[in-house]
Amino acid sequence: MSDEPLKPYPWQAAIWHELVRRHRADRLPHALLLTGPQGIGKRSLAAALAQALLCEQPEEEGTACGRCRGCTLYAAGSHPDFLMLEPLEEGKSITVDRVRGVVAFQGLKGQYGNRRVAIVSPADRLNVNAANALLKTLEEPTADMLLLLCSSRPSALLPTIRSRCQQVPLPPATPEQAGEWLQNRVEEPGAAADLLAMSGGAPLAALELASGEQLMVRESVIEALQALSEQRELPLAVAEQWFKGGAEPVLRWLSSCLTDLIRLRSAPHSARLSNPDLRGRLQPLAEQVDLGALYRLLDRTQQGVRQVQHQVNAQLVLEEIVITWARYFRALCR
Ligand SMILES: [Zn+2]
Repeated sequence: MSDEPLKPYPWQAAIWHELVRRHRADRLPHALLLTGPQGIGKRSLAAALAQALLCEQPEEEGTACGRCRGCTLYAAGSHPDFLMLEPLEEGKSITVDRVRGVVAFQGLKGQYGNRRVAIVSPADRLNVNAANALLKTLEEPTADMLLLLCSSRPSALLPTIRSRCQQVPLPPATPEQAGEWLQNRVEEPGAAADLLAMSGGAPLAALELASGEQLMVRESVIEALQALSEQRELPLAVAEQWFKGGAEPVLRWLSSCLTDLIRLRSAPHSARLSNPDLRGRLQPLAEQVDLGALYRLLDRTQQGVRQVQHQVNAQLVLEEIVITWARYFRALCR
């Protein structure tokens, strides 16, 4: 099994090179505080560094190989020498009981090598008790453990924490780097400049904005699938509504939902979904259509994406797909 290894973003090339150089010279301190505006990839760089340090055969540029035992465990979220400390819910605090996990982790020996890594992100979300508990690990560092703290608001950290970490300000992307990166990741490349403007030039923040719109499209897709399955909506009305919202994004989300339905149908409890937050709504749908029908719908939908890209009448494509879908549900209700 192999997973794409984590890599620094293009605008992080120089700082990455520097961190790798220091690691190879055995000159990384025991705690780094990665700072910089929101949405430039601090946490992602920390994760790439963590994986690289736990990799057994890193690449020449210092990134993880993505194939070794260390990388496989890391990608599966089960590397015993790695710990991720983050709020349980976005926007919430990191509490002291979670930090105790880091303290305990620090007391262990590395299981697969001589390096252990813990990430705290966002570090400014540590509440007072949690911050004080974390101080203990910073005051009594162990040689083989690297602590990576990420924060866009380092001034909100306890001064005693700040002073025990080496601060690494991460560079923002240049407008060219941000634009090029974003254009390859949004449905409408022409919107990249606007999105970047709205997010202060931070590429990841811009991408998230884009996906906010995308999430509305996704919501209209899942909502319609539920309505069709309960026969609350007529297929042609659904097709018309989807057509108005733009056929291609709708078909892509439909394809994504179908892939998840196939996963749920195949392994209801262990399936790793592309839309994990929709699990509760997808599960009942998965139970209503058999696997063969789901595969046929997926084929048809992916073909539909290619058709609308090639100017085939998008409304007709959508109508045909929605009618097929509705027929599978009706067959079930007979
Ligand atoms: Zn590896």
